[in-house]
Formats: sequence, structure tokens, C-alpha cells
Amino acid sequence: MSPLKWTRRNDVLQKALFGPAGYPDTARGSLKRVFKILVDAGATALEYAAVYGLQASEGKAKQIGDLARQSGIMMSMHEAYYINFASKDPKIREKSRQRLIHALRFSPLMSVKRIVFHPGTQGGMIPAEAHIVVRDALRSVWEEAGRRGRGAFLAPEIAGKIVMYGSVDQIIALCHDVEGCIPTIDWAHLYARSQGKINDRESYLKILAQFENALGSLFVDNMHFHISGITFTEKGEVSHQPCGEEWGPDLHPMMEIVHELGYKPTFICESPNPLQGALFAKFLFEQIEMGRNE
Ligand SMILES: [Zn+2]
Repeated sequence: MSPLKWTRRNDVLQKALFGPAGYPDTARGSLKRVFKILVDAGATALEYAAVYGLQASEGKAKQIGDLARQSGIMMSMHEAYYINFASKDPKIREKSRQRLIHALRFSPLMSVKRIVFHPGTQGGMIPAEAHIVVRDALRSVWEEAGRRGRGAFLAPEIAGKIVMYGSVDQIIALCHDVEGCIPTIDWAHLYARSQGKINDRESYLKILAQFENALGSLFVDNMHFHISGITFTEKGEVSHQPCGEEWGPDLHPMMEIVHELGYKPTFICESPNPLQGALFAKFLFEQIEMGRNE
């Protein structure tokens, strides 16, 4: 098979977007209600939760895509938690590949622009070795998904647990080495990994500069961020908590930076009440916008 040529335009956004991870509980399984609730609340994005595997039928996927387009909701998808490209078990590695290929083929139907996933463990390897294994697996995902996958980016995420694959360096290297990949920066995971140190303007700017210097407009035009409160130990993340004053990371300096630098990220909230968290972040951002524009 000839190597895949990457010609798709980046999905450059007009403004920062905010939305929940997963459907709002109050939708009680009704797809129409999902999108009505989001639009009525002022949410502008949704990360479809396929965290136990993408099981939607083609019909359902189309319905989701139509509703998303009609509602002007930016769609991403979170693929299965049990993806593991560095697993010692070849069956798990192959299943992980097939999951992303399937997600890529479904993404145009669902209007999904980014497929978020955790690459997995380091498979007992040193990080540089694990990187080669994960990199080659993702390249083969694209080769097999081919043209039908062109609707979306693969968006590997910063890991919350230090032992897992997904440091800043690894995610940057992956997006650098595999065409069609953009980073998902999970700020709660970064906060947990850094033992609470990545929590202010200076540290946020440093991380953003690292990504921007390495990936340029690929990063800036397609910023995909996760937010949430979080608790952690020396090993990294423990559990997601509400966005707000009580738990870090502090979203206020993040919103200031986004406003000042004119970035247009999609913020997906993964707190226990993700719609509420997304709206809280949006409120913070709009307060800053209003204050600065007066
Ligand atoms: Zn996340």
C-alpha cells in the first residue's frame, strides 16, 4: 500500500468552544434531547463517549452527525479506555488498531473531527521504545483506514497516570511523527502528573509554547483540551472532581491566556457533571472577554 498523503485542511475554528464529555444525564437516552439540552444551555461542543467501545449502528451514527450539524455542535469522540498499543499481548494491540480504524470510518457519519484516545501502557519498555511501537501502530491505522478516515484527526491524550504512555514529550513526538495526529492536552492530567505545579499562567504558557514550537499551526489551528478538577498522588491522577475553586487546576489563567493570545481551543469538560463544568469554563472565558473589551 502506498503511504498515505495528508492533504485534508485543518478544521480551523472561529472561536473557543465548550462542551461536555458524554451526553447530559437529563437527556435520558434521547438523541434529540441531547442536542436540544446542549444548544439551550449554550454549549458548543460534545465529546461522544465511546469509552467502552464504539457500538453505534450506521443509522444512529448518521442521526448523531445530522443533529450535530443542525445544532452547530463541534463533535469529537473519546475512544475506548482499554486501547493499548504497547501491550505485550498482540491480540490487544490488533484490537486497539481495529478500534481506531472503525472510529475513523464512522467519524464522517457522526461529524466527528477528533478521535481522542489513550495510547495505553509503556508495555514494560523504556519510553523511547514504547514510542516507536505506538508510532508504527498509528501509522498502520492510517494506512488501513485510508481515505475513509480523512474526516477526523487522531488525538492522543496526555495521560493522568505517570506510568502510562502519554507524557508531553511522547504526545508531541507522536503528533510530529504520525501525520493526521493532533494532541489532546488534558490540563487536569498535566496538573496531576506535575503534582499540582502546572497550575498558573507561567506554567501554562510554557506547556503551550512547547506544543506550538514543535507542531506549529497543526497544534494552534486544532487545539483540543480537556478540563476538570482532579485529585492526585505521587503516581498521578486519582479521580476527577468538579471544575471550580475547590480543586485544581486553576482555569482562570488558562482562559486569560486563550483570550489574550486569540487561541480557539475546544474545551471538553470531564468533571463529574461535565455540562455544568463546561458552562462554568465558558462563563469564566466570557467574563474575561467582556471585562477586557469594555
Ligand atoms: Zn481527558
